[in-house]
Amino acid sequence: MPFYSPPWVPKLPFDPPNHITVADFILEEHHGRYPLGYSRPMFTCGITGKEHTTLEVRDRVDYLARGLAKELGWQSNKGTEWDKIVGVFSVNTLDSVPLAWATHRLGGIQTPANAAYSAAELAYQLKNSGAKCLFTCLPLLATAKEAAKEAGIPDNRIYILEVPQQFAGGKSVPAGMKTVDDFIKEGRELPRLETLKMEAGDGAKKTAFLCYSSGTSGLAKGVMISHRNVIANTMQIAAYEQKARDARRQPGTQSDYTESVLGLLPMSHIYGLVVICHASVYRGDQVVVLPKFEFEQTLGAIQKFKVNTLYLVPPIIIVMTKNKPILDKYDLSSVWAIFTGAAPLGQETANDLQKIYPSWRIRQGYGLTETCTVVCSSSPEDVWLGSSGSILPGIECRIVTPEGAEVTDYDQPGELLVKSPSVVLGYLNNDKANKETFEDGYMRTGDEAVIRRSPTSGNEHVFIVDRIKELIKVKGHQVAPAELESHLLTHPAVNDCAVIQVPDERSGEVPKAFVVKSPSVGIEENDRVLARQLQKFVEEHKAKYKWITGGIEFIDQIPKSPSGKILRRFLRDIEKEKRRKA
Ligand code: AMP
Repeated sequence: MPFYSPPWVPKLPFDPPNHITVADFILEEHHGRYPLGYSRPMFTCGITGKEHTTLEVRDRVDYLARGLAKELGWQSNKGTEWDKIVGVFSVNTLDSVPLAWATHRLGGIQTPANAAYSAAELAYQLKNSGAKCLFTCLPLLATAKEAAKEAGIPDNRIYILEVPQQFAGGKSVPAGMKTVDDFIKEGRELPRLETLKMEAGDGAKKTAFLCYSSGTSGLAKGVMISHRNVIANTMQIAAYEQKARDARRQPGTQSDYTESVLGLLPMSHIYGLVVICHASVYRGDQVVVLPKFEFEQTLGAIQKFKVNTLYLVPPIIIVMTKNKPILDKYDLSSVWAIFTGAAPLGQETANDLQKIYPSWRIRQGYGLTETCTVVCSSSPEDVWLGSSGSILPGIECRIVTPEGAEVTDYDQPGELLVKSPSVVLGYLNNDKANKETFEDGYMRTGDEAVIRRSPTSGNEHVFIVDRIKELIKVKGHQVAPAELESHLLTHPAVNDCAVIQVPDERSGEVPKAFVVKSPSVGIEENDRVLARQLQKFVEEHKAKYKWITGGIEFIDQIPKSPSGKILRRFLRDIEKEKRRKA
């Protein structure tokens, strides 16, 4: 018996439309969005205060699409979405997501990359996705250029997304390089674009975003997220939140409640992209955009722009709870709720934050790139610390044991399977991973969950209790053990290796490597020196959050199954036991 959304959750108001793009859904108010003209500014820069109203965003998207069409020779109704892939490698900017909507107007796809990537990591995504051009920002230009060269994208197909001057470190746009503003200026003078023709069903087949995730195993893969996937999750979140929004409506007024939300989390990751830049925007919220987490700058922006909901990840909450004297310097009285996701929030951390801000609702959501984000989340009226809340409308969850038996009781663990109109189309060019992950409309999450009934509300809550899949989550970012293992194996001192996660107070978890030394390594070689060399070997090639800060341990043999699969759980159990005794 599957588990569903609790009875108090309103059903979806209508079927997620499958004949329009994400851009139309967000920018055309008759699709149920909060009326365009009356809402708050859509995006506000948390550093300079520069803002783009919703009507301005709609115009910018239109002109930007015209400018891009001319520059790249793309036409709305010619070619397929796979001919029109726009790479984005940038910190958050006011235009990052509007650029995606402009690309959608042309029938194209945006592939956003993590701003912490090295040139080699970015080049992999650009090549794998088939990106035709690349938008970046000044602080990342050198890395972007190196990666673009490697991926065969010429210099004149690299463009600039503007960041606040103080964040650009005094750099200015090199002569001859085009910025988003240049495209918009040009686009204003160009004729209207032919309207993109979408037949019924196209929105459910056509990819809108190609985000990268390693899924349950292996290297990062392109996740094909359709227009309807994004629209569905946006509507699911909106329906789920409706009751809480109605409760916050000013007494005596009919206007919908809207709020100011924190746009700090990367817009390249599904959480920032869908929850903040689509679901919140759809309901008329104002996104206060910040390019990077700098503690006091973030607190200053929350105070200045009277932010109401903070979208966070657990490591940021840890920084908050450990620095109360700094928090006390800022007036955060506008905040009523925080929402955390992307990795588990420790119970102690949640309690610590609640002690500092007793009135805040500490909400946790659970989701994946492959479910176009939120599967379940805690409602503000029914917070149960440690739980990831109740299932969103239109989603069906099953829990199965490793032997494949269906779990129908509370408190019984098993792998969580999800069926939803937000479950993505699959991985790009990867039949094997698709077969392993998507089955009969269900997505295998690789996460172990239990369902518990709340003793106070009686609602069913989802608790994520462990991760079965091969994935490490460092500060909410994905680290694929297979990627680090294949890199370490190219080092002459490494004969075999296995990477697992170990707990870390600041980052949640970090990678640790078990290494079997090559026979060529002499016995006189000092283990500590060699371990440091291997760590440096990773640091030179990989993004900082992938560094092996959990340490390197030398062992004689990597435990493997008869079919050669690394027995990671065995290594994790040994590690747990060691830490328990320490
Ligand atoms: P991503 O695709 O990067 O969003 O990663 C999805 C994975 O992050 C999930 O499969 C979980 O392993 C983990 N995750 C996300 N949210 C939570 C949560 N609330 N609690 C525990 N793990 C989470």
